[in-house]
Amino acid sequence: MPRPILATIHTDSLIHNLGVARRAAPESRVWAVVKANAYGHGIERVFEGLRGADGFALLDLSEAQRVRDLGWRGPVLLLEGVFEPRDLELCSRLDLWHTVHCDAQIDMLAAHKTHAPHRVFLKMNSGMNRLGFAPDEYRSAWTRLNALPQVDEISLMTHFSDADGAKGIAQQMATFHAVTSDLPGERTLSNSAATLRHLDAVQASDWVRAGIALYGSAPDFPEHSIAQWGLQPTMTLAAKIIATQAVSTGASVGYSSSFVAERPMRIGVVACGYADGYPRICPTGTPVLVDGVRCQTVGRVSMDMLAVDLEPVPQAGFGSVVTLWGRAANGAVLPIDEVAIQAKTVGYELMCALAARVPVEVSL
Ligand SMILES: *Cc1c(COP(=O)(O)O)cnc(C)c1O
Repeated sequence: MPRPILATIHTDSLIHNLGVARRAAPESRVWAVVKANAYGHGIERVFEGLRGADGFALLDLSEAQRVRDLGWRGPVLLLEGVFEPRDLELCSRLDLWHTVHCDAQIDMLAAHKTHAPHRVFLKMNSGMNRLGFAPDEYRSAWTRLNALPQVDEISLMTHFSDADGAKGIAQQMATFHAVTSDLPGERTLSNSAATLRHLDAVQASDWVRAGIALYGSAPDFPEHSIAQWGLQPTMTLAAKIIATQAVSTGASVGYSSSFVAERPMRIGVVACGYADGYPRICPTGTPVLVDGVRCQTVGRVSMDMLAVDLEPVPQAGFGSVVTLWGRAANGAVLPIDEVAIQAKTVGYELMCALAARVPVEVSL
């Protein structure tokens, strides 16, 4: 028998969450962002759930190849564009659309021999200072691209730094509009947070780029939960209890004796640890579901195991199923965001960090 731990990818929830993104941007087309191996879910595993999208956006060329290998003939966008000249050959061969965010990429295009000109997305750095042309360089980049025989349609793109928070997007929107208002071409501005929170950006987006929302994590947690956005978990991580311990008052649990019982306790030892991708930093009190009932971890997370307080579930014991995040058999949901916040991070990081040793199943 393998260790009793399993991740499950929920196709029905991917379909549902894509519907949420569509309803938030009814006039736009939707990129399903599947970078980082579909946020740790596996591109092949999410494909059935996300094939209703209008295109797939990602950044690794080998991932673009995998999307084509799945039989996807629609749009595929490279969010960071090409990294070296021969990447353009793959763009030609696989018909990939690609972002152009710097002069080096325009130089590569100008030297590229292709029969079919490429569709490109010209990216503006409207304030995030990561990728893109500065506002005062943007139009000359556009003009230069537009003159290239290698280039077909030019779309306009920017990315928000604060769509999830208090600062918002007003400044970046104003910068983008000031520079691009009279340029032709389709626009793509909104990520998940902007799609859910900022109608003005959605209305200015011919394409929205939905990532995290598709995977059942709220981009602005804890201001909003997935329940408030109507999203469902798409990844469940579950493991079984492989031992129980009766712990008396004053006894400790786990490494460094960091947890000391203040009363007699029944502890369940769960076959999931940091080597499975469960964050070691999660403190005592991090929520889990045991047989679908909310319980809490106690003590340090170790490599292969963690401990939970079984007080709320007297019937639970050896073999009981513990949901670390996602949904339990009784329908109870533990959003990945609630675990992420205990780990001082975001749902993105937890789902991306699911370890290779965890077996994964797709539920259709
Ligand atoms: C990752 C990414 C997205 C998706 O972001 P989410 O917050 O996951 O919705 C959109 N656009 C670009 C350029 C990205 O890199």
